[in-house]
Amino acid sequence: MMPFAELSSPLERLYHPAAGEAGIQLFCKRDDLLSPAPGTALQGNKVRKLAPVLRRALAARRPPLLVSFGGAYSNHASALATAGKRYHLPVHLFIRGEEVDNPVLDRAVADGATLERISRAEYRQHRDENWRSRQVLRLAQRYDLAPEEIWIIPEGGTSPQAIESVSAIVGEITEALGDAPDYVALSAGTGGTAAGVILAAEAKTRIEIFPALKGSWMREEINSRLPSPPKASWTCIHDHHFGGYGRFPQEWRIPSAGFATRADISEPGLPPLEAIYTAKLFSGVLTRIRQGCYPPGSTIVVLHTGGIY
Ligand SMILES: *Cc1c(COP(=O)(O)O)cnc(C)c1O
Repeated sequence: MMPFAELSSPLERLYHPAAGEAGIQLFCKRDDLLSPAPGTALQGNKVRKLAPVLRRALAARRPPLLVSFGGAYSNHASALATAGKRYHLPVHLFIRGEEVDNPVLDRAVADGATLERISRAEYRQHRDENWRSRQVLRLAQRYDLAPEEIWIIPEGGTSPQAIESVSAIVGEITEALGDAPDYVALSAGTGGTAAGVILAAEAKTRIEIFPALKGSWMREEINSRLPSPPKASWTCIHDHHFGGYGRFPQEWRIPSAGFATRADISEPGLPPLEAIYTAKLFSGVLTRIRQGCYPPGSTIVVLHTGGIY
């Protein structure tokens, strides 16, 4: 079974009153609808990002061990565990920080992933080559594999191949609209999805990145992931993180059967949003529309990267 043979998502027009009043055309790129396993974390931008490595793993002579990293609530770690189960690939996850039981990690364990908790201090070394080589040798021995069968996937799944895979979003948008949009707005965690969109965008498009985390390092982080200078201009909009990663207004919290919360940002005509990434993004875009940040006549595409509810 080859995963994700055809990856593409619909572009929907959003008839939001604020857009009508500002004279702009608002669209949503529904990557949240991408999922080979609906109801799991293997959805949204995690599908785009993991597709290349999963395809390579399934084409390998022997299944490699997929190794990755994440915090205790990492959508990426959970998505990789679900992919491991679905495509029969072994998964080993380094989880940052103290023992916390939560539904995201429970799910990864139920999916058959091996979890190894490491201290925050050790986690900080995870990009270090020496640390990595030591782990590869140790895991090769533990799983009885050759070192080259230990495949390390970066945090958030953000590899150069993942960034290239995400880039396809831009062509899909242009094809659906018949022209490149004036603006694309999207959320950022590691900035890998942002890098993919920025790389492929046309010169007329302006990319607005809404980091879900507090801090001002995102621009540098994204820049470091761009293999060549982009045609499009792009900017990070830093005042819509609502206090930082995982923090958001109390009224966005709605009890749900899933493993996080569905965000109620009380706006008609919006797709379902979760509180960690996409509610912050949509609330930011709507605020900017009302502030008159986009000239009348503009087309704005908001990228819905998905999320777990
Ligand atoms: C993981 C995730 C992101 C962050 O993507 P990056 O490529 O790491 O910036 C954004 N939105 C959703 C819904 C996610 O699950």
